[in-house]
Amino acid sequence: MKNTDRFLRYVSYPTMSDETSETVPSTEKQLVLSRAIAEELIEIGLEDVELDDKGYLYATLPANVENSTVTLGLVAHVDTSDACADHPIKTKIVKYNGENICLNEEKGIYLTREEYPSLDKYVGDDLIVTDGTTLLGADDKAGVAAIVSAVENVKNSGLPHGRIRICFTPDEEIGRGADHFDVEKFGADYGYTVDGGALGEIEYENFNAASAVVKFNGVSIHPGSAKDKMKNASLMAMDFNALLPADEIPAKTEGYEGFFHLIEMSGECESATLVYIIRDHDMEKFNEKKALLLECAEKINAKYGEGCCVATVKDSYFNMKEIIDNHMYTIDRAVEAMEQVGVKPIIMPIRGGTDGARLSFMGLPCPNICTGGENFHSRFEYLSVQSLNKVVEIVERLIINATYAERN
Ligand SMILES: [Zn+2]
Repeated sequence: MKNTDRFLRYVSYPTMSDETSETVPSTEKQLVLSRAIAEELIEIGLEDVELDDKGYLYATLPANVENSTVTLGLVAHVDTSDACADHPIKTKIVKYNGENICLNEEKGIYLTREEYPSLDKYVGDDLIVTDGTTLLGADDKAGVAAIVSAVENVKNSGLPHGRIRICFTPDEEIGRGADHFDVEKFGADYGYTVDGGALGEIEYENFNAASAVVKFNGVSIHPGSAKDKMKNASLMAMDFNALLPADEIPAKTEGYEGFFHLIEMSGECESATLVYIIRDHDMEKFNEKKALLLECAEKINAKYGEGCCVATVKDSYFNMKEIIDNHMYTIDRAVEAMEQVGVKPIIMPIRGGTDGARLSFMGLPCPNICTGGENFHSRFEYLSVQSLNKVVEIVERLIINATYAERN
């Protein structure tokens, strides 16, 4: 099956995950796609095809040589983001000639190079787009399609290869993709998530991440007789936020600069709550940020009285660089695979998280590589057919190069 057909088939299944759901996986519809993929994997001739009760689909391409050395793991996720509508996804393929792309004539929706300069890289390419009312789902169905196609191609080529394990997870977009991943059962020595953006991207540095809930306890009293008695929790909250560094926010940071991000606030006189997320690539700076937030809470208590401010900080995930630094061969091999197929590797830090980070801390060193898609989580998401084909080639090289790779 052609890579594009495979991709278009996968995106025809709506698979949005749901943060408010407590089931595993969070939505039933993810299983519908995973069941279809499981059947396909059996048809291709993979072994140990298993869709477990948590919605994780595992499979094996057994080695076709006796003396192969390592087991390579390949991971992608089947769910899509809830950032915009996910169905019905109406795709079309447009030959991009450098002019604005009309996604939806009726609604007047255009994909323009003015708003999306990344388009400049794709003049002459065939771009898969939507009708501008839904996301496309290249995140991460391009990753799923690339892995399935690469495994099928390598198997049919008869070229020597080692044991390959693949896993397609649910619920990545709601941060639960690694929750029930069975690293031991997966049994790979190292792996890659195929879940990045533009062609050539290799990522092994992500944020260290924490969330903080800051509660303010005030004293409410009739404002006419409030002198020296009222403690307004909402004003405490405003004081608190003013103590944090004003420039360390998402809108004023980039690259390796970390931030405090106020994601939620509510308040009355009697009580108020602020919720932040804290992010930094550097562990020391990350710890300083968490400590600073707690110090600010103490300052509020010093000003308004003990117990007026209670801050709780909870770690979410850590920068996988800490693990990958000891497994740099994973990056070297990704670079080598890309160069072999004429793709220029772009190693860059992610200003976010990735399932591979948690997998790395769970014992599976697992950097992230490109899918070829652009504008993820958006109605303007698109995927170049040529990029997707290259990603398939990259994954094929990763598989073939791993056959006799050194065990690290
Ligand atoms: Zn993704």
